[in-house]
Amino acid sequence: GRKFFVGGNWKCNGTTEEVKKIVSILNGREVPSQDVVEVVISPPFVFLPLVKSSLRPDFHVAAQNCWVKKGGAFTGEVSAEMLVNLNIPWVIIGHSERRLILKESNEFIGDKVAYALSQGLKVIACIGETLEQREAGSTMEVVAAQTKAIAAKVSNWVDVVLAYEPVWAIGTGKVATPAQAQEVHSELRKWLQANVSPEVAASTRIIYGGSVTAANCKELAAQPDVDGFLVGGASLKPEFIDIIKSAE
Ligand code: 13P
Repeated sequence: GRKFFVGGNWKCNGTTEEVKKIVSILNGREVPSQDVVEVVISPPFVFLPLVKSSLRPDFHVAAQNCWVKKGGAFTGEVSAEMLVNLNIPWVIIGHSERRLILKESNEFIGDKVAYALSQGLKVIACIGETLEQREAGSTMEVVAAQTKAIAAKVSNWVDVVLAYEPVWAIGTGKVATPAQAQEVHSELRKWLQANVSPEVAASTRIIYGGSVTAANCKELAAQPDVDGFLVGGASLKPEFIDIIKSAE
């Protein structure tokens, strides 16, 4: 079976004091064991060492991005090798905020995923359509093209989690219905089956992101092809614990 996966994407938020506070809340609560759920917290780069050194050992950490190739003269970037050097196991790649605001293309994201994996990082690869694309009926076409650009450069999917995050659901309070999420996840799994392999389709976690809360996570988690969540706003609050508990 696919182990339930819950990621907390803090995005560009937090002060040292706030980080210490949320870590202490996370550390003090009971959650299902690591056999049941994999929990990964993703603070901004500058807080990664603090979070890594103070977070409970059953939770892991992720960077929110990394550079597309070996480090060097790339001002402002952080390389995959640096994350490995700091024992950061995970990285989020291709978040829609980077695709849309920073203009990262499908191909660039495919290259980033492949390079991060080659350095030994595990990758949360994000895909998802905009409202305009959904309304035009091109959701599957869009997410298939995003996935294809990753699949073209990745041969080993063991360390990849695919995060389906419809852009219209991110930070809007407008969560996808369980049926909407299930439909896309199931189509993505079919895509993987046809274009990568039946084994990869069966074993790859496909997680949902976009306005996930303690109130809506249970119904989403009950969908057969929803293998967890990537949580933004609610990951900065104590309710993140309740979202982790939806694994059970
Ligand atoms: P929200 O949970 O704030 O909608 O953000 C989702 C997200 O973008 C996680 O990566």
